[in-house]
Amino acid sequence: MIVDIDEALAKSLFGHDDNAVGIESRYFKGMKLVEFKTYMCLICGWMYDEAEGLPEDGIPKGTRWQDVPLNWTCPECGARKDDFDMVAI
Ligand SMILES: [Zn+2]
Repeated sequence: MIVDIDEALAKSLFGHDDNAVGIESRYFKGMKLVEFKTYMCLICGWMYDEAEGLPEDGIPKGTRWQDVPLNWTCPECGARKDDFDMVAI
C-alpha cells in the first residue's frame, strides 16, 4: 500500500532525517513516500518492523501493519494484533 504525504511533510522528513524519530522514510517508484513503522508487542516486547516483514511467517518485507492478517500472532508469546502498539524508536 502506497501512501501519499504532502510535500512539506516529505521535505521536513528528508531535510531532518536524523530527527524523524520512529519513522523510516523511503521513496518508492513514482516519488511516492512510504513510511515504515515499527510495532511492539506489549506483552513480551517483540518488535514487528514493516520494512522487514516476517518472511518466515509468510509476511513479505514492506507489509503494512494493517495488512498483517488478523489471525496473526506474536511469534514470541502468541499475543494478538490487539496487544501490539506502534512505537517510536
Ligand atoms: Zn509477544
